[in-house]
Formats: sequence, structure tokens, C-alpha cells
Amino acid sequence: MDDQQKVVFLDRDGVLIHDVHYLSQLEDIQFYPDVPDGLKRLQRSGFLLVVITNQSGVARGYFPPSFVSDCHARMNQILASNRVTLDHLYFCPHYHSGSAPYNIDCECRKPAPGMIFRARRELNLSLQHAYMIGDKMCDVELAHNADITGILLTTGQGREHQQPVLQVYPSTPVFSSFSQAVDYIISSTKGRPDS
Ligand SMILES: [Mg+2]
Repeated sequence: MDDQQKVVFLDRDGVLIHDVHYLSQLEDIQFYPDVPDGLKRLQRSGFLLVVITNQSGVARGYFPPSFVSDCHARMNQILASNRVTLDHLYFCPHYHSGSAPYNIDCECRKPAPGMIFRARRELNLSLQHAYMIGDKMCDVELAHNADITGILLTTGQGREHQQPVLQVYPSTPVFSSFSQAVDYIISSTKGRPDS
């Protein structure tokens, strides 16, 4: 197990790219302007970048699971000009009242910690230095359920989720931009003897 490997888990819609409500066309992928540079700073600081996203549009029949992988490829294609790569992507295609075979009560739909635990297993991580950046209550709950640090952005749907998040998890760091969250993560891990 790699105790030293630092990792940032990233929600996709409303954090990395604009939330267009069930993104179903590659042309609609649009990064927030400060995201490519922020990702690059994290990667250069030694963080693994792992996208963790609920994609119930699969269960709802809006797009096939392959489309989520296509989006990941397209995102990395865009990021290539910034010399940064999203290392891994895990997505949950399920929704309990969707269509078969995706209509199950799974262990991966956020806020359930299944995707983070799968990443821990498959990428051999210890989660000792792990963060989750999201724009919704389910992202912060996920961080809590996986016992890692959750960060809320007020981009995407974050403004509406800020109040309820802080009521339940008052110590959650809240930032209005991705780059501020990156500053926080880098300064929090700097200077640790084991980081
Ligand atoms: Mg989101």
C-alpha cells in the first residue's frame, strides 16, 4: 500500500466542468477557466487526480456507459494542451428506479463510499492524504463516509448546498473557486513530515 501517495477525488459536473444537467454531448464539455491550471498544480505537487461521479443518466437511458468514458477521454484531450491528465475516473451508472441492469441499490452512488473504496483497492492507496472536492451535500457526505477531507465549492450547485452542508458538517472548507481549493490542499499538505 502506498502510504505516501496523495490523492484528490474530484466531482465532475459543477466542479471541473459546467453542470449542464445530464451532459449528453461531448460538445457541451466546458471546463471552468481555472480548472486546468489548478489540476496541473495538484499533479505537480504529487497528487493523483481521480474523478468520482454519479452518472444516473445511464440508468435513466439518457446515454450509454461508454459515453461517460468518451467524456473522460475528451476531457483529457482538452487538458493535454495544459500538460495535465486526469489519472482515473470512476462513475456510478445506477439509479434505483432506472432501467435494468442499472436499477439496483448499489454501494457506489454518492454519498455511498463505494467508488472511493474501489479506487483505494485498485490503486493501492492508503487515503492518508486524500481530499474530495464537490459542489453538493452528497460529495461532502461521501468524504465523511470515506473518512477523508471534504471540500465544498460554491460553483455548480454549491451555493444552494452550502447552508445544509455547514449545518451538518460545520468544519467543511468552502471556496468559491477551484483554484482556492487547490491552494488550500497544497498548503495543508506542505510541511507535513510524511507528505
Ligand atoms: Mg457536482
